[in-house]
Amino acid sequence: MKILNFGSLNCDNVYTVPHMVKAGETLSSASLEIFPGGKGLNQSIALARAGAQVCHAGLIGEDGRFLVKLAEENGVDCSLVELRPGRTGHAVIQVDPSGQNCILLYGGANQLVDEAYIRRALAGFGPGDLLLLQNEMNLPERMIDLAWEMGLTVALNPSPCSAALAKCDFRKVEWLILNELEGAALSGEPDVKKLPKAILQRFPHMKVVLTLGANGARYADSERQFFQPAFSVKAVDTTGAGDTFTGFFLAAVLEGKEVPEALLLASRAAALAVSRKGAASSIPARAEVDGGGGTRGYDAF
Ligand code: ADP
Repeated sequence: MKILNFGSLNCDNVYTVPHMVKAGETLSSASLEIFPGGKGLNQSIALARAGAQVCHAGLIGEDGRFLVKLAEENGVDCSLVELRPGRTGHAVIQVDPSGQNCILLYGGANQLVDEAYIRRALAGFGPGDLLLLQNEMNLPERMIDLAWEMGLTVALNPSPCSAALAKCDFRKVEWLILNELEGAALSGEPDVKKLPKAILQRFPHMKVVLTLGANGARYADSERQFFQPAFSVKAVDTTGAGDTFTGFFLAAVLEGKEVPEALLLASRAAALAVSRKGAASSIPARAEVDGGGGTRGYDAF
Protein backbone atom coordinates (compact mmCIF):
# COMPACT_ATOMS: atom_id res chain seq x y z
CA MET A 1 0.00 0.00 0.00
CA LYS A 2 1.52 3.30 -1.14
CA ILE A 3 0.61 6.79 0.00
CA LEU A 4 0.33 9.85 -2.20
CA ASN A 5 0.04 13.18 -0.42
CA PHE A 6 -1.28 15.82 -2.82
CA GLY A 7 -0.48 18.88 -0.79
CA SER A 8 0.57 22.49 -0.43
CA LEU A 9 4.17 23.68 -0.31
CA ASN A 10 4.57 27.12 1.25
CA CYS A 11 7.21 29.68 2.24
CA ASP A 12 6.32 31.33 5.55
CA ASN A 13 7.88 34.81 5.69
CA VAL A 14 7.85 35.94 9.31
CA TYR A 15 8.42 39.67 9.94
CA THR A 16 9.07 40.96 13.46
CA VAL A 17 7.18 44.25 13.80
CA PRO A 18 6.62 46.79 16.61
CA HIS A 19 2.88 46.60 15.88
CA MET A 20 0.70 45.28 13.06
CA VAL A 21 0.84 47.57 10.08
CA LYS A 22 -2.23 49.81 9.77
CA ALA A 23 -4.07 50.97 6.65
CA GLY A 24 -2.00 53.65 4.90
CA GLU A 25 1.04 53.13 7.16
CA THR A 26 4.60 52.25 6.09
CA LEU A 27 6.36 50.26 8.78
CA SER A 28 9.89 48.86 9.04
CA SER A 29 10.28 45.33 10.34
CA ALA A 30 13.15 44.38 12.64
CA SER A 31 13.79 41.00 11.04
CA LEU A 32 12.67 38.56 8.38
CA GLU A 33 12.84 34.82 8.88
CA ILE A 34 11.80 32.35 6.20
CA PHE A 35 10.37 29.01 7.26
CA PRO A 36 9.19 26.02 5.25
CA GLY A 37 5.43 25.61 5.55
CA GLY A 38 2.23 24.31 4.05
CA LYS A 39 0.06 21.62 5.56
CA GLY A 40 0.95 19.36 2.68
CA LEU A 41 4.68 19.62 3.28
CA ASN A 42 4.31 19.21 7.06
CA GLN A 43 2.17 16.11 6.67
CA SER A 44 4.54 14.51 4.17
CA ILE A 45 7.44 15.12 6.53
CA ALA A 46 5.42 13.70 9.44
CA LEU A 47 4.56 10.59 7.41
CA ALA A 48 8.19 10.10 6.41
CA ARG A 49 9.51 10.68 9.94
CA ALA A 50 6.93 8.17 11.16
CA GLY A 51 8.49 5.66 8.78
CA ALA A 52 5.95 5.63 5.91
CA GLN A 53 6.95 5.60 2.26
CA VAL A 54 5.34 8.78 1.02
CA CYS A 55 5.19 10.33 -2.40
CA HIS A 56 4.37 14.04 -2.50
CA ALA A 57 2.55 15.76 -5.38
CA GLY A 58 2.45 19.54 -5.38
CA LEU A 59 3.47 22.66 -7.27
CA ILE A 60 6.17 25.25 -6.64
CA GLY A 61 7.74 28.28 -8.31
CA GLU A 62 11.53 28.64 -8.64
CA ASP A 63 11.62 30.13 -5.13
CA GLY A 64 10.26 26.90 -3.65
CA ARG A 65 13.11 24.55 -4.49
CA PHE A 66 14.29 24.60 -0.86
CA LEU A 67 10.97 23.07 0.18
CA VAL A 68 11.52 20.09 -2.10
CA LYS A 69 15.08 19.73 -0.85
CA LEU A 70 13.84 19.68 2.74
CA ALA A 71 11.17 17.09 1.98
CA GLU A 72 13.70 14.90 0.16
CA GLU A 73 16.19 15.17 3.02
CA ASN A 74 13.42 13.76 5.21
CA GLY A 75 12.87 10.81 2.89
CA VAL A 76 9.83 12.08 0.97
CA ASP A 77 9.72 11.08 -2.71
CA CYS A 78 9.22 14.39 -4.57
CA SER A 79 9.52 13.07 -8.12
CA LEU A 80 5.93 14.17 -8.83
CA VAL A 81 6.42 17.78 -7.67
CA GLU A 82 6.34 20.14 -10.66
CA LEU A 83 7.62 23.66 -11.28
CA ARG A 84 5.29 26.45 -12.41
CA PRO A 85 6.00 30.02 -13.55
CA GLY A 86 5.54 32.56 -10.78
CA ARG A 87 5.79 32.33 -7.03
CA THR A 88 5.47 29.43 -4.64
CA GLY A 89 2.57 29.76 -2.22
CA HIS A 90 3.59 31.94 0.67
CA ALA A 91 2.45 33.66 3.83
CA VAL A 92 3.37 37.14 5.03
CA ILE A 93 3.28 36.84 8.81
CA GLN A 94 3.67 39.82 11.12
CA VAL A 95 4.58 39.01 14.70
CA ASP A 96 4.32 41.78 17.29
CA PRO A 97 6.20 41.99 20.64
CA SER A 98 3.31 40.25 22.46
CA GLY A 99 3.70 37.24 20.14
CA GLN A 100 0.40 37.87 18.35
CA ASN A 101 0.45 37.35 14.63
CA CYS A 102 -1.53 38.27 11.57
CA ILE A 103 -1.21 36.30 8.38
CA LEU A 104 -1.66 37.19 4.73
CA LEU A 105 -1.74 34.17 2.42
CA TYR A 106 -0.92 33.97 -1.25
CA GLY A 107 -1.79 30.62 -2.81
CA GLY A 108 0.74 30.98 -5.67
CA ALA A 109 1.65 27.69 -7.35
CA ASN A 110 -0.55 25.76 -4.89
CA GLN A 111 -3.56 27.19 -6.76
CA LEU A 112 -2.39 26.18 -10.25
CA VAL A 113 -3.52 22.54 -10.18
CA ASP A 114 -5.25 21.36 -13.33
CA GLU A 115 -6.86 18.09 -14.25
CA ALA A 116 -3.92 16.92 -16.40
CA TYR A 117 -1.56 17.26 -13.43
CA ILE A 118 -3.91 15.36 -11.13
CA ARG A 119 -4.07 12.51 -13.65
CA ARG A 120 -0.26 12.47 -14.01
CA ALA A 121 0.20 12.38 -10.24
CA LEU A 122 -2.33 9.59 -9.73
CA ALA A 123 -1.08 7.47 -12.66
CA GLY A 124 1.33 5.39 -10.57
CA PHE A 125 -1.26 4.53 -7.92
CA GLY A 126 -4.16 2.14 -7.79
CA PRO A 127 -6.54 0.10 -5.68
CA GLY A 128 -5.40 -0.21 -2.09
CA ASP A 129 -3.20 2.89 -2.21
CA LEU A 130 -4.05 5.94 -0.16
CA LEU A 131 -4.48 9.54 -1.28
CA LEU A 132 -4.09 12.19 1.43
CA LEU A 133 -5.43 15.71 0.88
CA GLN A 134 -5.73 18.95 2.78
CA ASN A 135 -7.57 22.07 1.62
CA GLU A 136 -4.77 24.42 0.55
CA MET A 137 -4.76 23.59 -3.16
CA ASN A 138 -7.37 24.14 -5.85
CA LEU A 139 -9.48 21.32 -7.33
CA PRO A 140 -9.64 19.06 -4.25
CA GLU A 141 -12.99 17.84 -5.59
CA ARG A 142 -11.34 16.52 -8.78
CA MET A 143 -8.52 14.88 -6.80
CA ILE A 144 -11.15 13.04 -4.75
CA ASP A 145 -13.27 12.03 -7.76
CA LEU A 146 -10.35 10.77 -9.85
CA ALA A 147 -8.72 8.90 -6.96
CA TRP A 148 -12.05 7.28 -6.16
CA GLU A 149 -12.54 6.19 -9.79
CA MET A 150 -9.08 4.58 -9.68
CA GLY A 151 -9.88 2.65 -6.50
CA LEU A 152 -7.68 4.60 -4.08
CA THR A 153 -8.70 5.14 -0.48
CA VAL A 154 -9.09 8.86 0.24
CA ALA A 155 -8.05 10.52 3.52
CA LEU A 156 -9.06 14.18 3.85
CA ASN A 157 -7.86 16.72 6.37
CA PRO A 158 -10.35 19.53 5.55
CA SER A 159 -8.05 22.27 6.74
CA PRO A 160 -8.37 25.19 6.47
CA CYS A 161 -12.14 24.91 6.32
CA SER A 162 -13.45 26.91 3.35
CA ALA A 163 -16.31 27.05 0.88
CA ALA A 164 -14.20 25.01 -1.61
CA LEU A 165 -15.02 21.91 0.45
CA ALA A 166 -18.70 22.18 -0.46
CA LYS A 167 -17.77 20.91 -3.94
CA CYS A 168 -16.15 17.75 -2.55
CA ASP A 169 -18.07 14.49 -2.57
CA PHE A 170 -17.63 13.30 1.00
CA ARG A 171 -19.16 9.91 0.15
CA LYS A 172 -15.80 9.17 -1.50
CA VAL A 173 -13.76 10.09 1.57
CA GLU A 174 -12.97 7.19 3.88
CA TRP A 175 -10.77 8.86 6.51
CA LEU A 176 -11.76 12.31 7.73
CA ILE A 177 -9.18 13.82 10.08
CA LEU A 178 -10.14 17.20 11.46
CA ASN A 179 -10.03 19.47 14.49
CA GLU A 180 -13.04 20.67 16.45
CA LEU A 181 -13.39 24.00 14.62
CA GLU A 182 -13.35 22.27 11.24
CA GLY A 183 -15.75 19.64 12.57
CA ALA A 184 -18.19 22.25 13.84
CA ALA A 185 -18.02 24.19 10.56
CA LEU A 186 -18.59 21.08 8.42
CA SER A 187 -21.31 19.45 10.49
CA GLY A 188 -22.99 22.42 12.16
CA GLU A 189 -22.69 20.57 15.50
CA PRO A 190 -20.88 22.69 18.13
CA ASP A 191 -20.81 19.98 20.84
CA VAL A 192 -17.59 17.97 20.34
CA LYS A 193 -19.08 14.90 22.02
CA LYS A 194 -21.91 14.78 19.48
CA LEU A 195 -19.80 15.88 16.53
CA PRO A 196 -18.52 12.50 15.22
CA LYS A 197 -22.06 11.10 15.36
CA ALA A 198 -23.39 14.11 13.45
CA ILE A 199 -20.85 13.45 10.69
CA LEU A 200 -21.54 9.70 10.68
CA GLN A 201 -25.27 10.27 10.36
CA ARG A 202 -24.64 11.90 7.00
CA PHE A 203 -21.71 9.68 5.97
CA PRO A 204 -22.01 6.32 7.76
CA HIS A 205 -19.10 4.74 5.88
CA MET A 206 -16.56 7.24 7.27
CA LYS A 207 -13.80 6.79 9.78
CA VAL A 208 -13.70 10.07 11.66
CA VAL A 209 -10.70 11.24 13.66
CA LEU A 210 -11.46 14.39 15.63
CA THR A 211 -8.54 16.14 17.32
CA LEU A 212 -9.25 18.29 20.36
CA GLY A 213 -5.94 20.01 21.08
CA ALA A 214 -4.86 19.50 24.71
CA ASN A 215 -8.11 17.58 25.25
CA GLY A 216 -6.96 14.67 23.11
CA ALA A 217 -8.56 12.96 20.13
CA ARG A 218 -11.67 10.94 19.37
CA TYR A 219 -12.22 8.26 16.76
CA ALA A 220 -15.62 7.09 15.55
CA ASP A 221 -16.98 4.89 12.79
CA SER A 222 -20.43 3.34 12.52
CA GLU A 223 -19.47 0.56 14.95
CA ARG A 224 -16.67 1.75 17.22
CA GLN A 225 -15.57 4.75 19.23
CA PHE A 226 -12.26 5.44 20.94
CA PHE A 227 -10.88 8.30 22.97
CA GLN A 228 -7.19 9.08 23.34
CA PRO A 229 -6.23 11.71 25.95
CA ALA A 230 -3.44 14.11 25.05
CA PHE A 231 -0.07 13.68 26.77
CA SER A 232 0.60 16.35 29.31
CA VAL A 233 3.48 18.53 28.10
CA LYS A 234 4.46 22.16 28.38
CA ALA A 235 3.13 23.57 25.11
CA VAL A 236 5.78 25.80 23.52
CA ASP A 237 4.37 26.09 19.99
CA THR A 238 1.26 24.25 18.78
CA THR A 239 1.90 25.03 15.09
CA GLY A 240 1.88 21.77 13.17
CA ALA A 241 0.32 19.68 15.99
CA GLY A 242 -2.50 18.54 13.74
CA ASP A 243 -0.14 17.84 10.81
CA THR A 244 2.13 15.73 13.02
CA PHE A 245 -0.90 13.86 14.36
CA THR A 246 -2.24 13.19 10.85
CA GLY A 247 1.10 11.94 9.52
CA PHE A 248 1.81 9.59 12.42
CA PHE A 249 -1.78 8.35 12.58
CA LEU A 250 -1.91 7.41 8.90
CA ALA A 251 1.59 5.93 8.97
CA ALA A 252 0.45 3.60 11.77
CA VAL A 253 -2.72 2.69 9.87
CA LEU A 254 -0.63 1.88 6.79
CA GLU A 255 1.52 -0.40 8.95
CA GLY A 256 -1.66 -2.31 9.78
CA LYS A 257 -1.93 -1.07 13.35
CA GLU A 258 -5.36 -0.98 15.00
CA VAL A 259 -6.96 2.43 15.52
CA PRO A 260 -6.27 2.72 19.30
CA GLU A 261 -2.58 2.05 18.70
CA ALA A 262 -2.48 4.58 15.85
CA LEU A 263 -4.17 7.19 18.07
CA LEU A 264 -1.62 6.57 20.81
CA LEU A 265 1.35 6.92 18.45
CA ALA A 266 -0.10 10.08 16.86
CA SER A 267 -0.77 11.66 20.26
CA ARG A 268 2.74 10.95 21.46
CA ALA A 269 4.22 12.45 18.29
CA ALA A 270 1.97 15.53 18.42
CA ALA A 271 2.78 16.11 22.11
CA LEU A 272 6.49 16.08 21.29
CA ALA A 273 5.86 18.52 18.41
CA VAL A 274 4.00 21.01 20.64
CA SER A 275 6.79 20.92 23.20
CA ARG A 276 9.18 22.45 20.61
CA LYS A 277 9.24 25.60 18.54
CA GLY A 278 8.57 25.48 14.80
CA ALA A 279 6.33 23.55 12.43
CA ALA A 280 8.19 21.11 10.15
CA SER A 281 11.29 21.28 12.34
CA SER A 282 9.33 20.26 15.46
CA ILE A 283 8.04 16.98 14.01
CA PRO A 284 9.77 14.15 15.90
CA ALA A 285 11.45 11.09 14.44
CA ARG A 286 9.81 7.70 14.94
CA ALA A 287 12.55 6.53 17.31
CA GLU A 288 11.82 9.44 19.65
CA VAL A 289 8.11 8.69 19.61
CA ASP A 290 8.63 4.99 20.24
CA GLY A 291 11.04 5.97 23.00
CA GLY A 292 13.68 3.78 21.42
CA GLY A 293 16.93 5.66 21.31
CA GLY A 294 15.81 9.17 20.41
CA THR A 295 17.00 12.27 22.15
CA ARG A 296 13.76 12.38 24.13
CA GLY A 297 12.11 9.18 25.16
CA TYR A 298 8.77 8.54 26.73
CA ASP A 299 9.93 8.98 30.28
CA ALA A 300 9.74 12.68 29.53
CA PHE A 301 5.96 12.42 29.89
P1 ADP B 1 -4.73 21.41 14.86
O1 ADP B 1 -3.27 21.73 14.97
O2 ADP B 1 -5.11 20.87 13.54
O3 ADP B 1 -5.64 22.51 15.34
P2 ADP B 1 -5.19 20.11 17.43
O4 ADP B 1 -4.93 21.41 18.09
O5 ADP B 1 -6.51 19.45 17.69
O6 ADP B 1 -4.97 20.17 15.86
O7 ADP B 1 -4.01 19.11 17.90
C1 ADP B 1 -3.81 17.84 17.30
C2 ADP B 1 -3.32 16.87 18.36
O8 ADP B 1 -2.09 17.35 18.89
C3 ADP B 1 -4.25 16.70 19.56
O9 ADP B 1 -5.24 15.71 19.33
C4 ADP B 1 -3.25 16.26 20.64
O10 ADP B 1 -2.95 14.88 20.52
C5 ADP B 1 -1.99 17.06 20.26
N1 ADP B 1 -1.93 18.33 21.01
C6 ADP B 1 -2.34 19.55 20.62
N2 ADP B 1 -2.13 20.48 21.59
C7 ADP B 1 -1.56 19.81 22.62
C8 ADP B 1 -1.09 20.19 23.92
N3 ADP B 1 -1.18 21.46 24.36
N4 ADP B 1 -0.55 19.23 24.71
C9 ADP B 1 -0.45 17.95 24.28
N5 ADP B 1 -0.87 17.52 23.07
C10 ADP B 1 -1.42 18.43 22.25
